[in-house]
Amino acid sequence: MAGPRQGPGNLDDEFPLGDGTAETEATVICPYCHQASEIGLDPGSGPVQEYIEDCPVCCRPWIVAVRYLADGSVRVDIEPEDGG
Ligand SMILES: [Zn+2]
Repeated sequence: MAGPRQGPGNLDDEFPLGDGTAETEATVICPYCHQASEIGLDPGSGPVQEYIEDCPVCCRPWIVAVRYLADGSVRVDIEPEDGG
């Protein structure tokens, strides 16, 4: 990817979560091994995010869907990548 962002200072004005009030961690349950794991979040990446992350317990890939709400709380949904 050309031109990666380097540090803060260029956040979207419509997403006022750069002041430290947004959640930066979430506890999720792996859909494969059903173990609870804490994952780190990046509020600066936007109010709606989706990415692949491997389970730290069983190393199988999740599709992680992150949605920040207006009050800075976060909703994280995990789906198995090979779930169809
Ligand atoms: Zn797992």
